[in-house]
Amino acid sequence: MSPDSARPAPFPENSLENLQICKQCDLVVELEPVDKGHLSVCPRCMGVMARFHVHPFETSLAFALTALVPLIAVLGTPFLTLSVGGLRESSTVLGTAVALIQKGFPSIGILVLMMTLVLPMLRLFAFIYVLAPLAWGSVSPYAWLVFRTAETATPWAMLDVFLIGVLVAVIKLLDLASVEAGVGLFGFVALMLLMVAASATLDRETVWSRIRRDAV
Ligand SMILES: [Zn+2]
Repeated sequence: MSPDSARPAPFPENSLENLQICKQCDLVVELEPVDKGHLSVCPRCMGVMARFHVHPFETSLAFALTALVPLIAVLGTPFLTLSVGGLRESSTVLGTAVALIQKGFPSIGILVLMMTLVLPMLRLFAFIYVLAPLAWGSVSPYAWLVFRTAETATPWAMLDVFLIGVLVAVIKLLDLASVEAGVGLFGFVALMLLMVAASATLDRETVWSRIRRDAV
């Protein structure tokens, strides 16, 4: 590569839409058209500027739709079953949050409810609401607002943090009680992995470019 090719691109008036700032080194680069399945890299630091996915949102939509199955398991089947001295007690994730609220820990119960059920479900349904019509070539009403809300909720949907907390609690409880993992726990792990896969395979730039047209 010659030194000239690594220089910042000029600013032609008709191609401002193609200009992008490198997230690693702040160089302004004019993105060239790249085939699907390839990357655009920064000419100065070789950082990835954009990925052009073969399936920008279809794979993500498939993961999101599949995640509905473990979601039903999480909502409807026991998460853990504890046995102490002949007493057996099973609880779902929803039941755990409600029990925390009823037993005098309303703030913790509401946090558990929001971060393990409400926000992950909001993200999941928002993905499906935005991506399913895109796959058929149309755009849902207010897709930009729904997608932005889902992206804002991402840091607060803490399925993984909750799962680690549960595993630590189970290890500590093993000395006192017998603990059985329920279908809901396996559903919870599957839901978490499918949500990560849906998020990781999503080409957000392509999604935004499609739904922004609807917003204007
Ligand atoms: Zn760079």
